[in-house]
Amino acid sequence: MTLASKLPLVGTTIFTQMSALAAEFGALNLSQGFPDFAPDQRLLDRAATAITLGNNQYAPMTGLPALREAIAGLISQHYGRTVDANLEVTVTSGASEAIFDAIAALVRPGDEVVLFDPAYDLYEPAVLLAGGVWRRLALTAPDFRPDWQAFEAVLGPKTRLVIINSPHNPTGSCWQEQDLAALWQAIKSQDCYLISDEVYEFIHFGETAVSVHKHSQLRDRALVVSSFGKSFHLTGWKLGYVVAPAALSAELRKVHQFVTFCTATPLQAAMAEHLKALPEETFTLAGFYRQKRDLLRDLLAGSRFKLLPCDGTYFQLLDYSAISDEDDLSFCQRLVKDIGVAAIPVSVFYAEPPAGQRLIRLCFAKEDDTLKEAARRLSQL
Ligand code: PMP
Ligand code: GLN
Repeated sequence: MTLASKLPLVGTTIFTQMSALAAEFGALNLSQGFPDFAPDQRLLDRAATAITLGNNQYAPMTGLPALREAIAGLISQHYGRTVDANLEVTVTSGASEAIFDAIAALVRPGDEVVLFDPAYDLYEPAVLLAGGVWRRLALTAPDFRPDWQAFEAVLGPKTRLVIINSPHNPTGSCWQEQDLAALWQAIKSQDCYLISDEVYEFIHFGETAVSVHKHSQLRDRALVVSSFGKSFHLTGWKLGYVVAPAALSAELRKVHQFVTFCTATPLQAAMAEHLKALPEETFTLAGFYRQKRDLLRDLLAGSRFKLLPCDGTYFQLLDYSAISDEDDLSFCQRLVKDIGVAAIPVSVFYAEPPAGQRLIRLCFAKEDDTLKEAARRLSQL
């Protein structure tokens, strides 16, 4: 039999590839986005206690009530938005599952989905598996903010969904209030929904963060997705959540109940208790990562890399065109082997990478010593 792939153009993700290469060559891994430092010990203790006390069977499908209440509290405290913890908050196995469920729930064969280019790598395959057709709108360096006239031209009667992501992976750009206003103007008379991927919601370096939670019209059409993995330094817990109006949440839950049914119970219990005890901690995250961003930028300032702006996330883009003409994948492979630093080639996030663009992404969610050594090695080039 010939196996006709549903995703013939999709290989193994760049994160798996680069982390494996980094391990093989013993390189400093600044490729895949995860911290190399430990989460808060109190959170780890709470998880251990939850397991020992017997919180080990299925959780309710939509998430532990205590955690959904805590998430509703976080949204209220941070954005001034009141949400119904029963009907509008769903706990998922990471933001990945949430986004995948949302796309599967909403996109019908032939529906069009507007994505930006570059975009996080899971959106496009999820749209294809649902039978949707993606339309990409270019974001241009160095600020990577949308051209709203071009956006309107991409919309049409078949547009079912728009997927946005600010702070943005991989570019570190952040939208401003006027971007959300322009988005609303463009889609308000369209019959389409919104996924707002806000996993880096607490990692922004400007005065205020833009969020769909704060936009009183967009949020009525939106599934806003986030991840405790980013906000509490525990990407391996795969603990995410979605906030959406009741009707949209109900559709999302129809998929979620058959994909995972529920998310690891003791981890939910631990996070619920942690949020109750320490909700203010999430608000110090931006300062913590700003220091790391500034350290990395200062250390690389004298190198031949050109640093692009970074307003949010824990990713810094570097332009290496003064160093090499190689394509970005070859350049990243050589960096691992020759100087022992793993990075991500930015072209993988594009449907159509701009000709001649030479960018790599570094993750600065690392110990200061890791950043110092990585910068020392990169500065040799
Ligand atoms: N969206 C973006 C923009 C991401 O960078 C990531 C992963 N880091 C995810 C979604 C997935 O998050 P999670 O690990 O919680 O599934
Ligand atoms: N989101 C992480 C990144 O951009 C990786 C997540 C993954 O490995 N799937 O690096």
